[in-house]
Amino acid sequence: MSLPTLADRIGRTIRQDVQSTHGYAIQPSAGLVKLDAMENPFRLPPELQAELGRRLARVAINRYPVQSTVDLVAALSRHVALPAGCKLILGNGSDELIDLLSVACNVPGAVMLAPLPGFVMYEMSARLRGLRFVGVPLTADFDLDEAAMLAAIEQQRPALTYIAYPNNPTANLFSETAIERIVDAIGHQHGLVVMDEAYQPFSSRSWMQRMARQPHVLVMRTLSKFGLAGVRLGYLCGHAALVDEIDKVRPPYNVSVLNAEAALFALDHADEYARQAALLKSERARLQTALRALPGVQPFPSEANMILVRVPDSRQVFEGMKARGVLVKHISGLHPLLAQCLRLTVGTPEENDLMIAALKESL
Ligand SMILES: *Cc1c(COP(=O)(O)O)cnc(C)c1O
Repeated sequence: MSLPTLADRIGRTIRQDVQSTHGYAIQPSAGLVKLDAMENPFRLPPELQAELGRRLARVAINRYPVQSTVDLVAALSRHVALPAGCKLILGNGSDELIDLLSVACNVPGAVMLAPLPGFVMYEMSARLRGLRFVGVPLTADFDLDEAAMLAAIEQQRPALTYIAYPNNPTANLFSETAIERIVDAIGHQHGLVVMDEAYQPFSSRSWMQRMARQPHVLVMRTLSKFGLAGVRLGYLCGHAALVDEIDKVRPPYNVSVLNAEAALFALDHADEYARQAALLKSERARLQTALRALPGVQPFPSEANMILVRVPDSRQVFEGMKARGVLVKHISGLHPLLAQCLRLTVGTPEENDLMIAALKESL
């Protein structure tokens, strides 16, 4: 008997929904000014690079990561002023934490709720882990539609609700009073709320201290936008009893000793990263002014290291900018509210000058 073909084998072994899905697409960026993924554009100064090299060289890579995790949890807890009674766990990026939450919260019939447009990984994780995803459209100015959110909470009784604060890709902070009422409504049911603060280094507000009196709220952050996207380090904070449950589904050695050492090093030099964030925030303000001066270009308010802009013809502008060597993200197709929109990452002053020039010439 002949063996089945590999295609036949895939047809019978790989989940149908996985076969018909596209993986997360990463745009090729070689040779382009890369302003598409909210990366911090700054490297460390040479003397700090050398010091990091020496520290990494000393790490015991022959051992599983144990003490490095303990040390990093302690250092991050101090760095974020973790409220009393709360705990913090680490993920290989917050993408992994999103996945762990989907695993931990997949009670029978579990629903995940999030506003749309939002971070695409929530829905992807829900789909792959078998939770039902319910998206609630934002208003036209990208704030929470409080009435629609409250109605969805009432009807769907979500196990897990994500609120990105600030939101990606819209870059704004939602109304605090709307969030409070949503958090309250979920508090009266049995659900959890995750405040995703990936952009906290650039934001004027955080939910971290409010979490102390809201035991059903978790705060998730990452060092990616802070300046360590290549390191892969996310963290999740919340009341100890709740975090302990989520910790049970975490693979025991999910954060490598090298990731942990690099993150510890960055926290030892938090002042350098604070300087970088301050410069990016002032560049954000400069970009806003330059964008507002361009005819037909509408930039939206930002509390992150990105700016959402609406242009007359987003496809033409995206392609025009790329032809001029500047890569941004074309997100017009992601959601009807994002029609003719591009998402620009805030780069170095020189990169931002190139971006503005390329945008202007592509209108
Ligand atoms: C970038 C981003 C993350 C993912 O961060 P990683 O730690 O790099 O996995 C999570 N949430 C939001 C809203 C983001 O924009």
